[in-house]
Amino acid sequence: MLDKSTFARLTQCRSGHAHTGEYYRSINKPERGVACCCGAAVQTRDHLLVECPLYERYRHILRNASPELSVTHLLGTEAGVAATAKFLRRSRAFGRPTTADEDGDAA
Ligand SMILES: [Zn+2]
Repeated sequence: MLDKSTFARLTQCRSGHAHTGEYYRSINKPERGVACCCGAAVQTRDHLLVECPLYERYRHILRNASPELSVTHLLGTEAGVAATAKFLRRSRAFGRPTTADEDGDAA
């Protein structure tokens, strides 16, 4: 069973409505920032899942399900989704920056 925050982020991730710079730009709220904290010019879902160095320490969770880190596989198969959920929970990726520490399950 997923906790509420993880489930919300997983749903946003699969629908393309994750709290990323890419999404903020698409909804015309670029003031929320389109760049990633790691220095990448545009933060995208794929960037956070498979590229961003800030989350590399958690990426083995995803590689267990998809050694080649295929986003299609990670978001489209049962094993991939389970791994993505675990990755999101551990890494807290896709949390809104201002609320990232408010949902109570500090590591
Ligand atoms: Zn990044």
